[in-house]
Amino acid sequence: MKNKIYLERSKPTYKGNLHLHTTWSDGSLPAAEVVEAFKEKGYHFVCISDHDIYARTDEFNTDAFITIPGMERGGLNPIADKDPGYHFGVIDDPSEQPEQQRFEHLQTFPIPIPWEGDHSPQALIDEMRSHGNLVIFNHPEWHLTRFEDMVKYKRFFAIEIYNHATEWSTTSSYGTAYWDHALQNGQRVFGIAADDSHGHDKNWKIAEYGGGWVQVQSEALTHPDIVSNLKQGSFYSSTGPEIYDLRVEEGQLMIECSPCKFIMFKAFPLRGPFVGNHESGEPMTAASMSIEEEMQYIRVECIDFDGRVAWSNPVFVADLLEGDE
Ligand SMILES: [Zn+2]
Ligand SMILES: [Zn+2]
Repeated sequence: MKNKIYLERSKPTYKGNLHLHTTWSDGSLPAAEVVEAFKEKGYHFVCISDHDIYARTDEFNTDAFITIPGMERGGLNPIADKDPGYHFGVIDDPSEQPEQQRFEHLQTFPIPIPWEGDHSPQALIDEMRSHGNLVIFNHPEWHLTRFEDMVKYKRFFAIEIYNHATEWSTTSSYGTAYWDHALQNGQRVFGIAADDSHGHDKNWKIAEYGGGWVQVQSEALTHPDIVSNLKQGSFYSSTGPEIYDLRVEEGQLMIECSPCKFIMFKAFPLRGPFVGNHESGEPMTAASMSIEEEMQYIRVECIDFDGRVAWSNPVFVADLLEGDE
């Protein structure tokens, strides 16, 4: 079995939120103020993902903070005018040579999008991609997407596995069951935690933003570097804990994290170990497991003493066996 490094302690990491709203759609604050709110919380990047209007802003960028061009494309409902249907995160991918022109700043898109049968979500994903974008399957839990429907669709690079605004408002935030369902059906998709924040009110005691984020390992804080590392899965998602290192060495999957209550290896189809110092209650900062060749994928969840979670991306075991004797 090959050795492979997924996250490396010595590499720089950047904290970002890929889902938020401003007054360009139904948010409460203008983009400039939303950007300031995230800078104050120590973020390095955001995607201004307003509904059906593309944001391509350089004016907020500094040496320590960038905005990634994008939007949220939705209004595609199987029953006309009845939410929920499908929403997709759309992120400009500069490494692609798109068949069609890239979207421009404040370019708007018609809603509702006519539902023309089950192929409609795929047609929308493919259209966004043809303009040089990555696509995220947003908040399936909030949309109560049927599992069997979701796995019909391809070519999105990630699923939103934690959406803070829907936790804050309706406790329907966790899309990890959808993620496992997609992975078990052979899709190679990553998991993304994000805010989907609309209000950004600093005075709320229970904050509506800053609740879910991605931490990307990247050589540099630039739009091409961050997106390239997102595409490669060189990141983890979190609502609190940190993952410092994740690697395979001599058939062992090893993780290092900030002090946690439990570390759970979610392996399929053979369940991995669930590690916790239950008796002593001592915090854990590392764990490992033996990889079995029959395993399809393994992902790790680190849960802190407040119940907050850091999710690694999946380790695909076939990648470790390729070319093996
Ligand atoms: Zn949405
Ligand atoms: Zn949204």
